[in-house]
Amino acid sequence: MRVGVSRERRDGERRVAATPDSVRQLIGLGLEVLIESGAGTAAGHSDQAYADAGAELVAELELDALDVYAHVRPLSPETAARLRRGAVTVGLASPASELPTVRALAAAGVTAFALELVPRISRAQSMDALTSQALIAGYRSVLEAAMRLPRFFPLYMTAAGTIPPASVLVLGAGVAGLQAIGTAKRLGARVSANDVRPASADEVASMGATFISLDLEAAEASGGYAKELGDDRAAMQRALLAPHVAASDVLITTAAIPGRPAPLLVTSQMVAAMRPGSVVIDLAAESGGNVEGTVAGSDVLVPTADGAGTVTLVGLKDAASAMASDASRLYAKNVANLLELMTADGVVAPDFADEVVAGACLTDDGVVRHAPTAAAIE
Ligand code: NAD
Repeated sequence: MRVGVSRERRDGERRVAATPDSVRQLIGLGLEVLIESGAGTAAGHSDQAYADAGAELVAELELDALDVYAHVRPLSPETAARLRRGAVTVGLASPASELPTVRALAAAGVTAFALELVPRISRAQSMDALTSQALIAGYRSVLEAAMRLPRFFPLYMTAAGTIPPASVLVLGAGVAGLQAIGTAKRLGARVSANDVRPASADEVASMGATFISLDLEAAEASGGYAKELGDDRAAMQRALLAPHVAASDVLITTAAIPGRPAPLLVTSQMVAAMRPGSVVIDLAAESGGNVEGTVAGSDVLVPTADGAGTVTLVGLKDAASAMASDASRLYAKNVANLLELMTADGVVAPDFADEVVAGACLTDDGVVRHAPTAAAIE
C-alpha cells in the first residue's frame, strides 16, 4: 500500500509527518512510502536522506493514488475531497474547529484518524501527538520567556552583589505545564504552579516546584481532564491567583479544557499589576488565550499600573513547529506507531474492535464516528 507524505502547506509550519527513521519503520511493515520533494527540508531532512531510507521522492503527490496520507496540520476541504474513497488519513485534524474538512472527509468516504482523539491510555502513549507536541511547547515557552526577560533566571552571587532567582509561575500543570516547570527549574528559577486537578499537586511537587493551593473545589472530569469552572468559581480563582501573578517575573499559562475555549485565568488588570519587564507567555493563545489581551502570534506591551514600564504579553503560536527537528522526530514516530497498530502483512486495515483505533477515528465510510463532532455538524 502507498503512504504519501506532503510538504505542509500552512504558512509557518515547519514540521513533517515522516522522517527517514519513520520511513524505515513504515517500509519494514511492508508499505511503500512516497515523499513530496522538500517535505522535510525545514525539519532538517533532505530528499536524499528519505531516498536513502527507501522512500520514493515525487514532485507532487497524486492524492487519488494514495492508500494512506500522513500529514501534520488539518487538511483543507479541497485536499480531503481529492482523496479516494477508502483512503486512510493520519494527522492532526482539529475536529472542533475544522468542521468543513470533517464534512469533506466524510463525503469523500475517507477513513480519517485525528491524532487529537487518540485515547490517553498507557497503551497509546507512543501514538499520542498531543503529548509529544505539548512537551515541546512547554519547554519552548520557558526559552521564549527567558529571551525576553531583562533579568537572569538563576541566583547569581557575584563580587558586585547578589542577584536573586527569577520567580516563575505556571498555570495549568498538564503535559506542557510540567515541561515548563522542569525547564524553568533547570534554568535555576524559583517555580510555583497551580492547576484545578487535585492529582497535579504531587506532579508539580515531584518536579521541584511549589504547588499553590487555592481554596477552590477540585474540577476534574473523566479521563483525568479538567472540568470547566462555573463563572463564580472562575472569578474566585482569578482573585486568588492575583497576588501570585503580581509577585512573579514570568507567568506561563497552559490551561485548556478539551473541546472548549481556553479558560480566562488572568485579566489585563492582573497583568498590569506585575513588575515592569515581567513576561507572560500564553500557550493557549491559539485557542482563545488564558490571558486577557493575548494576540496569537504577537507580543503585546501592557503598561504597568505604576506607570514605570511594561509587561510583555506573548501569544505563543506554533511553538512545536519552531523546533521542527525534534517535533517532527516525535510526531513522525506517533504517526508510524498508529499505522503500525493498523497494519498487517503490508495492508493498513483499521480494526474498530481496538479501542485506540476506534477512539482515534474521526470519519469512516461516509460517517462521522466521533460523536461530539457529529453532533456539532448536525
Ligand atoms: P490539557 O492540555 O487539556 O490542559 C492543560 C492543563 O490545564 C491541565 O492540567 C488542566 O487540568 C489545566 N487546567 C484546565 N483549566 C484550568 C484552570 N481553570 N486553572 C488551572 N489549570 C487548568 O491537558 P493535558 O496536558 O493534555 O493533560 C490532561 C490530563 O491527561 C493530565 O491528567 C495528564 O496527566 C493526562 N495525560 C495522560 C496521558 C496518558 O495516560 N497517555 C497522556 C497525556 C496526558
